[in-house]
Amino acid sequence: MLLSDTKQAVYNEIDRRGDEAIQIAKEVLVNPEPGFREYKTASIIADKLRHLGIPFQEGIAMTGLKGILETGRPGPTVAIIGELDSHIVRGHSNADPQTDAAHACAHHTQLGMLIAVAIGLQTPGIMENLSGRIALIAVPAEEYIEIEYRNDLRKQGKIEFLVGKSEFIKLGAFDDVDLAMMTHADNSMGHEKFNVGGTFNAMVAKQIRFVGLSAHAGSEPHVGINALNAATLALNAIHAHRETFRNEDYIRVHPIITRGGGAVSAVPDDVRIETFIRGRTIDAVLSVCKKIDRALRAGAMAMDATVEITTLPGVLPLQNDISFQNLHTSNVDQLLGKGNTRPRGHETGSSDMGDLSSIMPIIHPFIASATGRSHGVDYLVHDYDLGVLTPAKSMAATVLDLLSDGAKQAREIARSYNAPLERTDYLSTVRGFASEETFRG
Ligand SMILES: [Zn+2]
Ligand SMILES: [Zn+2]
Repeated sequence: MLLSDTKQAVYNEIDRRGDEAIQIAKEVLVNPEPGFREYKTASIIADKLRHLGIPFQEGIAMTGLKGILETGRPGPTVAIIGELDSHIVRGHSNADPQTDAAHACAHHTQLGMLIAVAIGLQTPGIMENLSGRIALIAVPAEEYIEIEYRNDLRKQGKIEFLVGKSEFIKLGAFDDVDLAMMTHADNSMGHEKFNVGGTFNAMVAKQIRFVGLSAHAGSEPHVGINALNAATLALNAIHAHRETFRNEDYIRVHPIITRGGGAVSAVPDDVRIETFIRGRTIDAVLSVCKKIDRALRAGAMAMDATVEITTLPGVLPLQNDISFQNLHTSNVDQLLGKGNTRPRGHETGSSDMGDLSSIMPIIHPFIASATGRSHGVDYLVHDYDLGVLTPAKSMAATVLDLLSDGAKQAREIARSYNAPLERTDYLSTVRGFASEETFRG
C-alpha cells in the first residue's frame, strides 16, 4: 500500500470512530484530578485500552499507564503521550466542587488524542506496513502544583520527582522509547490551526517555610517572632531583584503564599511559600536561585525568624527536533492545507516534555482548540473535532512516516539527534538541583 493510502485509511478510521475518542476526552473533563491523584482518569484510560485489546502496564509513577502496539518487526519505539492531570482552578465551569480540580490546560483532549491515534493505527492493514513499536503513554502530573503534597509523597518514598515524566524516566519507563510526541491545546493563535517548534523555559521549584514564635497578637506581640513579616520582607527582596533579570534569560519568578498564619489573634509562626524560578537555560535559573535564597534569608534575618528552603528539581529546557517537526508539519499541510502552522518562538512556561527532549527527539506542537485564559476559569475547548481528531491524525500520520520503510526515518532522527544529555547522566543532573537549607536569622 502507498504511504498516502495508508494515511488516508487511518484518517477515515479516526473519523469513523472519532466519537469514541472524544467521549474519552469528555469523560476525563468531568472527572478532573491533579497530578499523582489521577485514579479515576487512569481507570477511564485503562478500560479503553482493554476494550481496544491493547496490552498495557498501569500504576507507573502511581497512576501512569503504558500501552504497546507491536508491529512484530524490529525498529525504534515512537511514544504518543497524553497527560492525565488537571489543574486546580476554583470557579472553572468544569471544576470538581470538592477539590476545585479543573482541566484548565485541556489535558483531557490529549487523552482523547491518545485513544484516537490507537484507533487509527489499529485500522486493518496498517501495522503490516510498519516496523518497530508505538508506545501509548498516559503520564501523570505534568502541572507542577501542590508542591507540599507532592514533597510529602517524596518523603514517603512514593515518588522522587514532582512531575510525571521525570518519574517515568527514573523508573525506566522511557528506556525503550526512542522518539516521543504529544499535542497540547492552545488559545492564542491567529488563523493557523497548529503552533509548532520553539523552546520552553527550564524551571526549579522551591518550598519555603518561615518559622517564627507565636504570641498574643494584641497584648504581647513583642515576645513573638512574626513569620509573616519575615516572608513579606523576603518577597519584597525577591521583587527588588527583578530589575537584574536579563531579557535574554526570560526569567519568571512567581511565588505564592500557601499558609499565611494560623489564628488572627496570634503572631504568625508558620508561613509557607511555594515558588518557581524559570529561565531559558539552567545556568540562568541557577544564578537567579542564588538571589532568591539570599532574599529569603534576608527576610528571616530581619525578623529573627528561621527559614527552611527546600529546592526541588523542576523541569529541563524543552526543544523540538527540527526533522521530526518537519515531518509533522508536512502532515498538517496535507490534512489542512499549507499555512496552518505557525512557528513558535520561546515559551516562558515550562513542561516536563523538556526532560524528555534532553534525552530523545520530541515534538510538542499546539492545536488551536481552546478559548479563554490558560490555567484560568474560562479556559475551554469548544471544538473537539479540531481539538482531538485533527492532532490525532497528524500524529498518527507522523508515526506512519517514521515507522514505514523499515522505520528508516525514525532511525535516522533518533541517530542524528544531538541530545543535551546522555540518558545515563539524566538522573544525576536532575538530582543535582535538589537541596535543603535551614537558615536561622
Ligand atoms: Zn498547564
Ligand atoms: Zn498543559
